[in-house]
Amino acid sequence: MIDLLERRKGGDMTHPILITGGAGFIGSHLCEKLLDNGNKVLCVDDLSTGNNANLKRLLKYKNFKFEKQSVCTPFDAEVGDVYNLACPASPLAFQKDPISTTKTAVLGAINLLDLSLKSGSKIFQASTSEVYGDPEVHPQPEWYWGNVNPIGRRACYDEGKRCAESLFFDYQRIHKVEIRVARIFNTYGPHMHINDGRAVCNFITQALRNDPITVFGAGDQTRSFCYVDDLVDGILCYMNQPDGNSPTNIGNPTEITIAELADL
Ligand code: UDP
Repeated sequence: MIDLLERRKGGDMTHPILITGGAGFIGSHLCEKLLDNGNKVLCVDDLSTGNNANLKRLLKYKNFKFEKQSVCTPFDAEVGDVYNLACPASPLAFQKDPISTTKTAVLGAINLLDLSLKSGSKIFQASTSEVYGDPEVHPQPEWYWGNVNPIGRRACYDEGKRCAESLFFDYQRIHKVEIRVARIFNTYGPHMHINDGRAVCNFITQALRNDPITVFGAGDQTRSFCYVDDLVDGILCYMNQPDGNSPTNIGNPTEITIAELADL
């Protein structure tokens, strides 16, 4: 249980912005941006894939507080806006303990939506382009329902995030919770995990080590890669715009081939 009174010592009564997964790659950049903008931030993270180096950077801010806790456990705190980014996101990480991945996505959504309902908070959900699965429509507009294998090895993440979206929209319809659901596409930038296992990380690490670049197949498959600062700006813009009635895609609209990425 987060000790709210302990946090409020010093007579400061403004509620902090809650960021779950704030010690992770995107979460730590979001924390930093909100802190730089003068906000108080409470970061909740179980450090399963988040890391201490990210935390160390953030702990330099006097308005930053950290609680080591899993979003699977219900918790109580008086908070302002809520940003839910707690979930392993790379296939290597989310397939390591798939049952825990599903629990994090689904129980995390329930616990944070309950907290938002109780505190009257607006809540942001970091959803993912993976809700489109193996898409049959390119590029994927928000109206596309996707093509997901519910029993495959990626289902823990894809279906976990889809169920979380379903919960967000039911809390909006039934309890009038103010929600913002963003589907985040490939993102890169400083403080990504070196063993993330995805193309940008692999290629940079391989180039620095003078190892061969592992382009799978012919390299003509395409992706778009968004720089993390642009993603964070997108998240904040979306959170602060008036309409949360539909999910929104956030990413770089320009696609490049994996071979071009390797050349770069
Ligand atoms: N990829 C690659 N070499 C790597 C890692 C990935 O050629 O070392 C390819 C992969 O086959 C895919 C693309 O790069 O077509 C993007 O893969 P990644 O795992 O980075 O992200 P996602 O598939 O989730 O977009």
